[in-house]
Amino acid sequence: SKFESLGLQKSLLSAITDLGFENPSEVQEKAIPILLEDETDLVALAQTGTGKTAAFGFPLIQKIDAASRTTQGLILSPTRELCLQITNEMQLYSKYEKGVNIVAIYGGASITDQARQIKRGAQIVVATPGRMKDMIGRGLVDISKIDYCILDEADEMLNMGFYEDIKDILSNTPKEKSTWLFSATMPKEVSTIAKKFMHSPKEITV
Ligand code: AMP
Repeated sequence: SKFESLGLQKSLLSAITDLGFENPSEVQEKAIPILLEDETDLVALAQTGTGKTAAFGFPLIQKIDAASRTTQGLILSPTRELCLQITNEMQLYSKYEKGVNIVAIYGGASITDQARQIKRGAQIVVATPGRMKDMIGRGLVDISKIDYCILDEADEMLNMGFYEDIKDILSNTPKEKSTWLFSATMPKEVSTIAKKFMHSPKEITV
């Protein structure tokens, strides 16, 4: 399929076949080769339902080191529902990757259970900003060594008043990392985040 020409590894292509995805969506076609090839920051203007979870999810799964238990990728999303949806999708995408653990962190559920899951080793953490900030403050999660930070639905997160939390979370991440920002719209607040926290991001629009 056309997915093969994007540079995705065999295990991911097998998962894609199982999922019944026949062809990459536009955002996948544009984002995946960029994210696989370069260590770059990316701003992607894409609505929900365009397949953006896979657009960042496939490259992230391919890039992380499954042999290490260190948290290497952080995905921030606005709501508990979206957080769980991304986690479920990512777990399907990574079904043939050995040792890849993807853990969801969100409010309104037991922090002890979530801390226990993190402690077992999660290369990828999918989180809502409030709970994430809380867990960092309590020393229950360490994002000081992440290589990839994904801000999903950045406009929604800012609409919901998460600017300070996001700023706080990002200040706990290393300077040397790639940041991938996905947003349906590009209001001033989103460009401010991009300017403040990203380095010459590539840009795609779908
Ligand atoms: P998203 O925009 O990431 O929320 O994805 C919307 C829906 O499209 C999800 O249910 C995905 O499983 C599905 N999807 C993502 N990529 C593809 C694809 N290339 N072909 C068919 N379905 C897809």
